[in-house]
Amino acid sequence: MRQVFNFSAGPATLPEEVLAQAAAEMLDWHGSGQSVMEMSHRGKEYMSIHEQAERDLRELMGIPANYKVLFLQGGATLQFAMVPINLMRGKTADYVHTGEWSKKAIKEARLFGAVNVAASAEDRSFTYVPAQSTWKRSADAAYLHYCANETIGGVEVFQTPDTGGVPLVADVSSTFLSRPIDVSKFGLIYGGAQKNIGPAGLTIVIVRDDLLGHAPKGTPTMLDYKVQADADSMLNTPPTWAIYIAGLVFQWLERQGGLAAIEQRNIEKAKVLYDYLDATQFYRNPVERADRSRMNVPFTLRDPALDEPFLAGAKERRMLQLKGHRSVGGMRASIYNAMPIEGVRALVDYMREFEKRNG
Ligand SMILES: *Cc1c(COP(=O)(O)O)cnc(C)c1O
Repeated sequence: MRQVFNFSAGPATLPEEVLAQAAAEMLDWHGSGQSVMEMSHRGKEYMSIHEQAERDLRELMGIPANYKVLFLQGGATLQFAMVPINLMRGKTADYVHTGEWSKKAIKEARLFGAVNVAASAEDRSFTYVPAQSTWKRSADAAYLHYCANETIGGVEVFQTPDTGGVPLVADVSSTFLSRPIDVSKFGLIYGGAQKNIGPAGLTIVIVRDDLLGHAPKGTPTMLDYKVQADADSMLNTPPTWAIYIAGLVFQWLERQGGLAAIEQRNIEKAKVLYDYLDATQFYRNPVERADRSRMNVPFTLRDPALDEPFLAGAKERRMLQLKGHRSVGGMRASIYNAMPIEGVRALVDYMREFEKRNG
């Protein structure tokens, strides 16, 4: 059994079963005599791992046949550039600004063309999602981009925006595979794996066919979705180990009952924490109830001088990485798919005890 509960926002906790399987297969994968890390990425063993991972992801998410799945590198941060490079086509792109990560996406997109901020939650310190009816979209936008879950602020967009015919682009880094989504409503979905899927080093992009092949002349080869798609993400050496572990996580999710089942567990876990936060004056979560993230739960203590003692006590109880992002302070509990409900209950028990001692 594992000895700690890791509440890190990313790289983050992984299912114990997956780690145990990877450990068992570490020195000799399926009788190949090699570790997956040592395999040629074009050999038949690794190819079978790669193809299986894609098949399993397609099945889990119900990805339609007219979408490509790309296993890339460079993090979600590189997608902040690749999306505008490939999709802008000289037009204006609409962006919704709900926090730190959408801010970074907007800043990067401005390097490549005109950006219209269709909505911003800045007026209330990024603690809510502006109602979709108030978004001021451009007449002929290349696409609309939003961040499906603001990992730092703890704000999640639960309703998939309706953009008519305009391609919808979502940064799903910290909500990937936490609940079912209808992929057919999106033009492109991307996210880094290290939040809810696997190790750092892998970025997954799911993109509709018709959006490929529009990168301007002069686009570096590696940054052109069409070239990556034509090469089945094997233009150069892919992050083989990260793809292998992600594949094990996809199979683990299937064994959990798929995304609908994992969503129910995530709802239950988040409720344990938010119910307690709402019942106390000692801790506070600033986010509008309907928009509260199920994955990342920031909270502050009434007196910031208690932050350090709180973290030290948590560590003694083997609860790690609860310190909030440096930009917001306070605490943040990331409770991704792999965090068992026992971890959330242990956290709430500790919070209650700490309040009793210090309240
Ligand atoms: C972590 C994160 C990123 C940045 O991911 P990298 O893989 O480190 O580039 C972008 N967007 C969101 C929502 C994130 O949580």
